[in-house]
Amino acid sequence: MSEKCSLATTLVHAGRKKRYTQGSVNPVVQRASSLVFDSLADKKHATINRAKGELFYGRRGTLTHFALQDAMCELEGGAGCYLYPCGAAAVTNSILSFVQSGDHILVTGAAYEPTQDFCNIVLKKLSVTTTFYDPMMGSQIAELVQPNTKVLFLEAPSSLTMEVPDIPAMVKAVRAVNPDIVIMIDNTWAGGVLFNALGHDIDISIQAGTKYLVGHSDIMIGTAVSNARCWDKLREHSYLMGQMVDADSAYITARGLRTLGIRLKQHEESSIKVAQWLAQQSEVSVVYHPALPGCPGHEFFKRDFLGASGLFSFELKQKLTQQQLEAFMNHFELFTMAYSWGGFESLILYNQPEEIAKIRPNIQRKLTGTLIRVHIGLENVDDLIEDLRKGFMRLK
Ligand SMILES: *Cc1c(COP(=O)(O)O)cnc(C)c1O
Repeated sequence: MSEKCSLATTLVHAGRKKRYTQGSVNPVVQRASSLVFDSLADKKHATINRAKGELFYGRRGTLTHFALQDAMCELEGGAGCYLYPCGAAAVTNSILSFVQSGDHILVTGAAYEPTQDFCNIVLKKLSVTTTFYDPMMGSQIAELVQPNTKVLFLEAPSSLTMEVPDIPAMVKAVRAVNPDIVIMIDNTWAGGVLFNALGHDIDISIQAGTKYLVGHSDIMIGTAVSNARCWDKLREHSYLMGQMVDADSAYITARGLRTLGIRLKQHEESSIKVAQWLAQQSEVSVVYHPALPGCPGHEFFKRDFLGASGLFSFELKQKLTQQQLEAFMNHFELFTMAYSWGGFESLILYNQPEEIAKIRPNIQRKLTGTLIRVHIGLENVDDLIEDLRKGFMRLK
C-alpha cells in the first residue's frame, strides 16, 4: 500500500476476485490434495501454468490460497506471495532460498530470537556464516559487506528492544556495495501495511501472519511477499522444501485482513495512550514505543512508517527481584502472559537485562532495569491502564 487513505478500502476488497469467491463474499474454502483434469490438454495447461495460478496439485495451492496470495501482493506491492505454516518457516525458507555453502549473511543482532538461533545452528551447519549487526549503525553497515554476502536481513522495529533502524540509509549503503544482495525484512510488527517494505527497495517482506494478519490468536501462518526479481527463486525453493499451509488457515487469514486496518488503528491509539501514561510513572525509566521520543530511531519511525501497532516495551528503573516479579506479573486481571502478540487481547512479558544482553550480539547498548513488553489489545484502554496501575502499586 503506498497511500494511507486507500488502505482501509484495499483491505476490504483485496483478493476477492469472482474466480475465488464464486458468488459468496469470501473466497471458497477449497480443500484438496488431488485437483482433477478433464483431458490431457487440461492437464498439460495446468502443468505449464502451475506457478501462475492454475490449479495443479494441492501443495501448489487451491483457490483459497490464491485469494490470500493475491490479497497480500496487492497490500504489499509484490509480484508474488509464498505462504508458510508459521512465521519462523517464512523467515528460514526466505533465507535458505538465497544462500549456499560458503556464503555470508548480515542479520540484525536484535532479531527475533529464533531467527538468530536458526543462523547460529542451522546455517552454521551448512557453512553459511552470519554477522550480527547493530540495527542503529545506519549506512556503516556497508563496511560489514563481504564479497560472499548474499542476504541482508532486517527487522523493524527490533524484537523486545524496539529500535527502529534507518532502513533507507542501510538499503542504499548495501546496494551501493553490491546491488545483487537480497534484502529481506521481518515486517511483522507493521502488519506488512504500516511499513511499505517493497517501496523502500527491499526485495522480500516477511510476516508472522500468526500475529496481526490473523489477529485472533488461533491460527499460525507465515507470509513472504517478494518483488519480481526474487519471486521465482523464493517460490521454487520454498516449494521444493515442502512449504505450504492448509486451505482453512489461508481462509482464516484472508478473513483477518478485512479488519486489519481498523484493528491496527485501535492498537495504535491505545498503545500510544498506555505508553504516554507509562512514561509518567516514577518506576519507569524509558518507554520503547516507536511513536515516542525515548525509542531509538523514533525519527526514522516518523519518517518511514504510516503508523504504529500495539506492541512495545518499557524499562523499569530497577531490576526487579524474583519476589517483586511475582508480585507484579502474577496478578493482572486483563494482561496475561504468553509468548505471542498481535491478537485482540492484551499480553505482558518480562526480560531481565542480562537475558536481553545474551540475545544482543554485537550491540553495545545495555539495559540496567527489567524490561517489560506489553501488547495492547482491543480492551478499553482506561481499563488496561488501571490494571497496570495496580501492578505498580504491588511493587510499593
Ligand atoms: C512471532 C514472530 C515470528 C515467528 O512467527 P511464528 O508464526 O510464531 O512462527 C517471527 N518474527 C517475529 C518478529 C515474531 O514476533
